[in-house]
Amino acid sequence: MPRSFISDRANGVDASGIRKVFDLAAKMVDPINLSIGLPDFDVPDAAKVVAAKAIESGQNRYTQTQGIAPLRERLRKDLSAEIGRDVGEVLITSGVSGALLLAIMAVINPGDEAIFLDPYFVMYKHLLTLTGGKGVPVDSYPDFKLVPERIEAAITPRTKMLILNSPGNPTGTVLSEAELKAAIEIAKKHNLLILSDEIYEPFLYSRLAGTQNGVYSPLALYENVLCLRGFSKSHAMTGWRVGYAFGHAEVVAQMTKLQQYTFVCAPAPFQYAALESLDVDMSSYIAAYAKKRDLVVGELSKKFEIAPSGGAFYVFPKAPNGLTATEFVEKAIANNVLIIPGKVFSERDTHFRISYATTDEKLAEGCRILNNLA
Ligand code: PMP
Repeated sequence: MPRSFISDRANGVDASGIRKVFDLAAKMVDPINLSIGLPDFDVPDAAKVVAAKAIESGQNRYTQTQGIAPLRERLRKDLSAEIGRDVGEVLITSGVSGALLLAIMAVINPGDEAIFLDPYFVMYKHLLTLTGGKGVPVDSYPDFKLVPERIEAAITPRTKMLILNSPGNPTGTVLSEAELKAAIEIAKKHNLLILSDEIYEPFLYSRLAGTQNGVYSPLALYENVLCLRGFSKSHAMTGWRVGYAFGHAEVVAQMTKLQQYTFVCAPAPFQYAALESLDVDMSSYIAAYAKKRDLVVGELSKKFEIAPSGGAFYVFPKAPNGLTATEFVEKAIANNVLIIPGKVFSERDTHFRISYATTDEKLAEGCRILNNLA
């Protein structure tokens, strides 16, 4: 037998679900692509100019591990104003993905457990497996709300972390203030760190309507919170790899140490561009996405069971007619609409993810085809 050079760690992670979708997608000609997890607008021009200038003027070397000072200082000032107290050091990371890996490496010992709502962003589960921890998904069907009793029931002596993601991928669901407070009560009672993945914070539509008056981040109410945010979604910089972490000071410090031996730093020129992008008004894009959400929910609720969605750019309808999500997605793909089956993000295979980050025309056409199929 030839020797396998592949670690149990690598073998322990399964990528088959999403790979199958991409294999199917590769055969499609000009599909209506409702599968993409990134905005359909481009990086703001002002940020491109600064990125190009940074490259030309020689900002091409390592930065400090924790990130360039002007970006860290600006974020600390803005975030402290939002949270209502000094948030401490901000660590600039290689995207929120980089921050997630560092956070989990900094907190999770082998055997430690982290709870998150199912459906979930896939990386949580796999990063926990990679680091020897255990992801514990807690069912949140049918409306993707945080039910305190279900979380309580999943807690064991090994539970160390509660991961929140609001607005969430893949459901677009936003935690209410009551749900947030319930999560914090549980975290306090069981001494858990809350990891709050706030990458979709800019896509919180209730802000546009002026109805989000209360708190958004759990860090405003509880000190044992690590918040992660980034520029990938808010400014369409997914390829530029800039995110940041703030909150629990000791965890941030350990993440900084670990970044030194992994990512070293976030890409230098794009840190300058990210700083510039903080002064770009993105509200018209967000308003356009809220309208797209209305369009897709309005159309699909004629034929599909679809829970309210308050942010990000996803909805997560139920597959119709008793079909599994995989079966329905295969039909959709055969009709040139690319969507993702729920089992990629869930222990269930009953729903599918639609990303509405596309043109209104493609969206309307995609909804028409899906409704016909249902
Ligand atoms: N968290 C969530 C919930 C996401 O959807 C994504 C991107 N799909 C990330 C984190 C990672 O984003 P990035 O690494 O591009 O900052």
